[in-house]
Amino acid sequence: MGILAAAVAVAATLACGGVLVSVNLASTLPTMSTPARLGVEATAGPTPSPSPYPYLSPSPIPTQSGTGAASATPSSSRTSAPTKAPTKAPTKAPTKAPTKAPTPRPGTPKPTSAKCIPTGAAVPADTAIVEPQVAASFGVCVPILEYHRIAPASEIGTSLPALVVSPAAFAAQMDALEAAGWHTITLGKLGDDLLAGRTPPARSFVVTIDDGWYDGYDDAFPILEAHGFVATFFVISGRIDHPSFLSSLNLTALTAAGDEIGNHTVNHVQLGSLTGASLSAQIDNASDRIAQVTGVRPKSFAYPMGVYNSTVVAAAVACPGMEIAVTEHKGIKETTGGRFTAPRLKITPGVSPAQLVAMMAG
Ligand SMILES: [Zn+2]
Repeated sequence: MGILAAAVAVAATLACGGVLVSVNLASTLPTMSTPARLGVEATAGPTPSPSPYPYLSPSPIPTQSGTGAASATPSSSRTSAPTKAPTKAPTKAPTKAPTKAPTPRPGTPKPTSAKCIPTGAAVPADTAIVEPQVAASFGVCVPILEYHRIAPASEIGTSLPALVVSPAAFAAQMDALEAAGWHTITLGKLGDDLLAGRTPPARSFVVTIDDGWYDGYDDAFPILEAHGFVATFFVISGRIDHPSFLSSLNLTALTAAGDEIGNHTVNHVQLGSLTGASLSAQIDNASDRIAQVTGVRPKSFAYPMGVYNSTVVAAAVACPGMEIAVTEHKGIKETTGGRFTAPRLKITPGVSPAQLVAMMAG
């Protein structure tokens, strides 16, 4: 067992915020059945500012009722959230799924699983991380949706339009999924299930929201709550409490409400160029900071821009508490052995509710 030494040279070209970056992944993808997918997501550089990538630049985002500022309290429009949080889980025990138990609905059709039968061969085989007690081929079919910002047009600023879904569109998507009998689990819960060899209830799905913008709390959170849904918010730990990004109190409130705060590195750097201590620091220190803020250590990780290689995967696996990591590969199947390169469905503004429901079936 161990890492296969496939000598596949992959030269990939990244589109990062309009900046093309050539990356040679020649010796770093031996365990991947497909080359690391390089997402279209823009990124901030290692230093918070000034940034050549406007998507994550904190300054252009207009404030609305103080929502864009890193305030000591959650934004005024959502100040009720922390107080209602105790009705949900105040802490996140590993066994506790932030649940919306799949409520069987009369007339709800059975899950269309014919196209969603995971096989070990269908997912990148990361054999080095397969726990011996769990069959490598154990798999589930839980769609993981990938969002970045849920914000009105007036607050887009310089963010890439393709990465911003309006609150109205997001609400319509969640309406459609709820009506179709879907219910959420966090990504950490999915990681728990994969490790336990346990299949989640039918029609489970995961909402992930990358980069930790303030609108994750101001706009997405109330919509999720209205549907009884939870999400995994991937935050950049170095931007917690910075203008335009989620505050510590936001993160605490989300955690108390059953949502998950996932790890998206300290500085949102492209990890493929890092090794050793600098690589592990980007991952481990982010988990440390999130745990310090929320009291819950992240189980979930998202590779910035979807960029990874075997060294990066190994660093994610080695991060204490980490159970699962998502990429920007397109797919809806996850396996225990491949859970550190889990695929997602990127949801762009043009995806209609009906199209989204259809996508969930694979
Ligand atoms: Zn990101």
